Amino acid sequence: MVIGQLRSEVRKQLGDNGHEADWIISHVTDMSQADFVLHPREVTDAELEEIKEIVKKRNSGMPLQYILGETEFMGLKFLVNELTLIPRADTETLVETVISKIGKKKLKVLDIGTGSGCIGISIAKLCKNTEVTLLDYSDGILSVAKKNAELNGVDVKLEKCDILEEIPEGKYDIVVSNPPYIETETIFSLDNIVSSYEPVEALDGGFDGLMFYRRIIEIASDILEEGGLIAFEIGYNQGEEVVEMLKEEGFSGVKLKQDACDNDRVVIARLKPNLF
Ligand code: GLN
Repeated sequence: MVIGQLRSEVRKQLGDNGHEADWIISHVTDMSQADFVLHPREVTDAELEEIKEIVKKRNSGMPLQYILGETEFMGLKFLVNELTLIPRADTETLVETVISKIGKKKLKVLDIGTGSGCIGISIAKLCKNTEVTLLDYSDGILSVAKKNAELNGVDVKLEKCDILEEIPEGKYDIVVSNPPYIETETIFSLDNIVSSYEPVEALDGGFDGLMFYRRIIEIASDILEEGGLIAFEIGYNQGEEVVEMLKEEGFSGVKLKQDACDNDRVVIARLKPNLF
């Protein structure tokens, strides 16, 4: 079968507007979307079989990122598996906010609950002077983050630490985190694709969804330099509460930022006074 015919066939089977169909074909054939048009060729039987398998799994509900084991974030490629959350476009707002604060400065950044490593690795890639540490609680998760750091050619440190029980070593200029922030009770009422495929540990923020913010704020003075910056991703309805928590703890410059859909998505604050 030629590529053009295959593209329309896969689109039809997926009921997709073309994005996922092209992604699958490109992944299996190693051809870019430009190649589909400029250098079309016959697909081999083996490729066709592989594509059929992927379409079957996709139609059973599994997110394509887990089937292919990869995704894109900040224009970079990241490997994902069942231990890691699939990086979300919303999280790019957090990364962009932190990058704009770093500029060309030489700073130390800690990414708490790094998962695939998408936040810390994007920062390390885009801010060359930054020294980034990726922190998570399990070896399995950290091995995904390590592979992603290698894949993207960045030199980062990895730290295994259960933030709820321990306090990480060292002090940082910036602590960034997209922690689990869904209320425990809500998790199973989520779009069931999320709760059946994504790791519950990456979603569960405790009874009110705020457990990790509370904990990170509590230990902030141990891990942040005076004047350092804290940057959180938050759920669209958590802005007010997280802002209030930071103000109560004496943080300064507490600001709420919106994502591309205009939902509250990021909170930043300083352990005063300003360091940079
Ligand atoms: N930091 C990772 C991400 O933003 C993982 C987040 C999480 O597991 N809650 O994708």
